[in-house]
Amino acid sequence: SDRTFTMIKPDAVANGYIGAILAKINKAGFRIVAMKYTKLTKDQAMKFYEVHQERPFYGDLTDFMSSGTIVAAILEKDNAVADFRKLIGATNPAEAEEGTIRKEFAESMSRNAVHGSDSDENACIEGAYHFSGTEIF
Ligand code: ATP
Repeated sequence: SDRTFTMIKPDAVANGYIGAILAKINKAGFRIVAMKYTKLTKDQAMKFYEVHQERPFYGDLTDFMSSGTIVAAILEKDNAVADFRKLIGATNPAEAEEGTIRKEFAESMSRNAVHGSDSDENACIEGAYHFSGTEIF
């Protein structure tokens, strides 16, 4: 069945929101098929957000994403990619709908609590980057 990849970002980990965010993810019908604490190096963050390399926020974004512990996870549900994007809400939490993860837990546009893959192809690439076969169930 369908899978997506998520990261609980350094702001949400530092703010102690891991449990509450995972509860919301479970309640929305996602099964956590892989999960770990990890940290991105600056180079890994730059690679991950490569599509934004010409944008003015690229330096700050990749500094932030490599600034602390994150939680990486693979989630399973029918229509996982689109349904998870809906659950996390708009990139800018000021525009995120009531009930979304970013509405509840994000601090700002740049410290917005969670990542969700934007396509099946990227979900697969991002998940495989962080987890080997024996770490996924
Ligand atoms: P993510 O890829 O982290 O799941 P997203 O898909 O909602 O987020 P993208 O457009 O891919 O949003 O942007 C990646 C990240 O870059 C955003 O999560 C946000 O933190 C940051 N970002 C995007 N646009 C801006 C902006 N205009 N100013 C500051 N930060 C931004």
